[in-house]
Amino acid sequence: MKTQQETNDQTSATCPACGLLCDDLILNQTSPLAVKNACPKGIEFFERSFSANINVSPSIDGKPSDLASAVKKATEILQQSKSALFAGLGTEVQGMRAVIRLAKKTNATLDHLHSESSIRNTLALQNGGWLTTTLAEVKNRADVILAIGTDITSSHPRFFEKLVWNTESLFDKPTPEVIYIGAPAEKTKAGTAPDGKAPTTITADPNHLPEIVNTLSALLCKKKIHAQTAGSVALSELVSVVEKLKNAKYAVIVWSASSFKFSHAELTIQSIVQLINQLNETTRAAGLPLNSGDGDYSVNNASAWLSGYPTRSRFKNGRADYDSFHFSTKKQHNIADALLWISTFNPHEPPISHCPTIVIGHPDTKFERTPDVFIPVGIPGVDHTGLMFRMDSSITLPLKALQETQLPSLGEVIKQLETALSNTQAAKVKTA
Ligand code: SF4
Repeated sequence: MKTQQETNDQTSATCPACGLLCDDLILNQTSPLAVKNACPKGIEFFERSFSANINVSPSIDGKPSDLASAVKKATEILQQSKSALFAGLGTEVQGMRAVIRLAKKTNATLDHLHSESSIRNTLALQNGGWLTTTLAEVKNRADVILAIGTDITSSHPRFFEKLVWNTESLFDKPTPEVIYIGAPAEKTKAGTAPDGKAPTTITADPNHLPEIVNTLSALLCKKKIHAQTAGSVALSELVSVVEKLKNAKYAVIVWSASSFKFSHAELTIQSIVQLINQLNETTRAAGLPLNSGDGDYSVNNASAWLSGYPTRSRFKNGRADYDSFHFSTKKQHNIADALLWISTFNPHEPPISHCPTIVIGHPDTKFERTPDVFIPVGIPGVDHTGLMFRMDSSITLPLKALQETQLPSLGEVIKQLETALSNTQAAKVKTA
């Protein structure tokens, strides 16, 4: 069904380029490509995706091959492997379902390419739970937005346009007050309201955020602080932030785990969670962690409901085990005996590994070291349908197939791998 804005030459689309998953995009069906309503990041994603080389063929040791031969070679590698690592995992829900089926059959370890960031959130969540909000709640209720260590729009460009400067909300609420702490100062202009009201910007070294967040908590608990500054920020500025949070009817605290580059950042996220809990003793407040991309939330959610664990999990005889430290790509890629690298949204290169490497990925992927097998696949939301979790994990949105392609989807390739593995297994049993 066409929306009001669509014509015969146009189609609506959902953008998978960031966790906001804007579903109000309108694309031209005919050349040249034009994308209405998208931000520059979304336009770049669609331009790159539509100009990707869909005629690229699979390859074995860098030499062009057909799909059947590439699947056969990949099957041999997985067959011989006893400790395969499935990494990258840049895919959506249906792709991840297929990946998990294959991991169960091959006793593989699973890790997402952005898990160095997302694990910080997972550890904080596992430690004591957290109170987070949805995008609808931000739109309808938030009256103060505190962004810690992030300008928000660099990673989620339409955040303010869609959720903060909206004139329509279910409840009569004022335009939210925006406060930044430790965000890159030159990027905080995005927090300026349409009426020209500038955000409150507290400049701070991001490495001092642990101290600053703990000071906010201490101030909220009415602890006496004798220092004049915390993390080089004047105490008076932090007192003023605490007052705004206390007086808010619905404060939302936003952070991006990928911008917390200091060690043990999960402890700072835990402190943010505690700050939110304390605020809820007298008013309402909630957190909003920004995701890193490449389907990280879709992959973790699908993994959690299918196996009981997010990624950094390992299958053994059909059962999943979990180790947030040892099952990371960094720890595993040099001890695994086979690497399957998956990246379907973006042409991310696999890490250089000593072991046989299979890549199922974006057709434009370039390699520093030629993998043993490369199987190019279509891009979800452009070449194939898919299902993706929004950054608040409250809903999934369907991704459309917007063009015809010869390239198989990740799910189709994995199905062929599963069939080939089962056939080899059956042949072995027969011979025995
Ligand atoms: S804000 Fe995110 S989802 Fe929306 S158009 Fe931009 S990149 Fe795409």
